[in-house]
Amino acid sequence: MTRSGNERDIYDVIIIGAGPAGMSGAIYAARKLLKTLLISKNVGGQVTDAWEIDNYLGFSQVDPAGLIKKFNEHVEKFGLERIIGKEVTSLDLAGEVKSVTTSDGSTFLSRTVIIATGKRPRKLGLPEEKKLGGKGIAYCATCDAPLFADADVAVAGGGNSALEAALDLIKIANSVSIVSLTPLTGDPIYQDKLQNSDKVTIYTEYEITKLLGEKVLEGVEIRSLKTGKVERLAVEGLFVEIGLIPNSDIVKDKLNLNKLGEIVVDYKCHTEIPGVFACGDVTNVPFKQVIVAAGEGAKAALAAYEYLISQE
Ligand SMILES: Cc1cc2nc3c(=O)[nH]c(=O)nc-3n(C[C@H](O)[C@H](O)[C@H](O)COP(=O)(O)OP(=O)(O)OC[C@H]3O[C@@H](n4cnc5c(N)ncnc54)[C@H](O)[C@@H]3O)c2cc1C
Repeated sequence: MTRSGNERDIYDVIIIGAGPAGMSGAIYAARKLLKTLLISKNVGGQVTDAWEIDNYLGFSQVDPAGLIKKFNEHVEKFGLERIIGKEVTSLDLAGEVKSVTTSDGSTFLSRTVIIATGKRPRKLGLPEEKKLGGKGIAYCATCDAPLFADADVAVAGGGNSALEAALDLIKIANSVSIVSLTPLTGDPIYQDKLQNSDKVTIYTEYEITKLLGEKVLEGVEIRSLKTGKVERLAVEGLFVEIGLIPNSDIVKDKLNLNKLGEIVVDYKCHTEIPGVFACGDVTNVPFKQVIVAAGEGAKAALAAYEYLISQE
């Protein structure tokens, strides 16, 4: 892109988020010689929470840390500007030049913005949850399961993430209680494995009503939705695996979100504001997978390039 002297501090594109979508977008933007800034709280996004990554083209299974390293090396090759470890806290998307502000109050200007902020784990919403977070309550079994060797633990949830967490935990823990609001919805193959384990007790149509313990988690109180019966499970660990929420808070009053809170985009990753694009798990594009996010990131960067050319 050509630009005059006083425009030097304005980026062509700012990408928010360095998960697979944002990193793929960064590569495509850099290859189009766009003046690019990548801002992210971390590198790798949800891939850092995975035990292994399946289904990425070229690898039937790959170690997440190794995959992120490869993504990162690829991005680094282009020498684009990056700010890692900072959160974007506000955006002004209205004008031709957009502004992006980070948690330390720094503001950056750009002609286009790509939002690739992904998702984060949903919480139970119980009062003691914050206090006991990291003190028995965990949101990533692949990261934290090894801390619970020989312990009695519970898993909240009944979908694939919860069942995968329980399968990880039976290798390590003494016992695993699965507490699900609904009948189990995860894959039958996982359900069979868990039902055949003598370490596992399954409570379906139960809700967790209380987290017990002052300094560390000592147990959970659960209540049957059918009978109202209340029980206490003495557990040292609770893995909350009840789904993910989109990191779309920064645009909730600015862009159209669907009922799940995902940013609504068209097939070229356009939002309804010209020059503002979104990609990956934060959007309404279905099938949340690394390969899908990386493909959408590429599309968003190419769409941003197309938009910039159309403005010249
Ligand atoms: C446990 C687990 C296992 C999985 N296993 C697989 C698998 O085997 N195969 C597969 O294909 N997929 C798997 N997935 C799904 C895959 O990880 C996601 O689809 C993919 O990571 C989505 O990429 P993304 O870039 O859209 O978002 P994310 O990976 O969520 O990345 C978002 C990035 O944005 C940053 N960010 C968020 N908000 C802000 C902000 N305000 N300011 C700055 N930065 C911000 C985050 O720090 C992060 O770096 C798994 C997911 C999980 C949780």
